[in-house]
Amino acid sequence: MEKLLSTSRRIEIVKENCSIIRERVAEAALKSGRKPEDVRLMAVTKTVEPVLINTAIEQGITLIGENRVQEFLSKEPELHLEGVEKHLIGHLQKNKVRQIVGKVDMIESVDSVALAREIDKRSEMQGIVTPVLLEVNIGEEDSKFGFSKEDLEQACAEIATFEHLTVQGMMTIPPICEKKEEIRENFSKMHQLFIDFSSKIFNNINMNVLSMGMSADFEEAVLEGSTLVRVGSALFGERIYR
Ligand SMILES: *Cc1c(COP(=O)(O)O)cnc(C)c1O
Repeated sequence: MEKLLSTSRRIEIVKENCSIIRERVAEAALKSGRKPEDVRLMAVTKTVEPVLINTAIEQGITLIGENRVQEFLSKEPELHLEGVEKHLIGHLQKNKVRQIVGKVDMIESVDSVALAREIDKRSEMQGIVTPVLLEVNIGEEDSKFGFSKEDLEQACAEIATFEHLTVQGMMTIPPICEKKEEIRENFSKMHQLFIDFSSKIFNNINMNVLSMGMSADFEEAVLEGSTLVRVGSALFGERIYR
């Protein structure tokens, strides 16, 4: 459907969506007892053309998220990224780490100690420290990446020894649920885990960022304590998969 719309019409839609989504995030933040600026809105840009990403940036979006290393690197030259933070949010293979370290401001999808070790190694080679989030598989689904709740403590103990990586918080993609209460339950579980780990002391590990909530459920996520929502289709329209 989107394909039938002219580019100028789609630019208009992205502009409208940006202000609507920003308002909804702000409202949810206030409802959760926080300030609107305490919850960041990320524009998820996978499969989105640069012209629309630049439109979102012109509308004041200061954080973008891409899933794939290759797609990000090929679109990057066309993006107006001054003052914009870039996060990698998709599953990262160890053999791609070399290409992305130093190119993004944060890797949100650290889902194994081995991946953390590789990021640490490649960051050291560049003389930098890479901020990351630990991805948690809160629904314990076989189909999803991420640490299980049970593995997290041991993983943190190991990751704490890596000096060229700094853990800034957690990220999750919860199971798809029909009922709002079930959705909130998973977010609430995740928030509790985040709080639990905030009080543990590990070297190089802080709990500042809780990245959860997407187009269908970002308000529920904010109400349960999310500090960063990752919104794609609600901003840019449904994705056209090639
Ligand atoms: C695609 C994606 C999103 C955004 O999903 P929408 O439902 O389009 O908002 C958020 N997080 C991750 C990790 C994604 O892959």
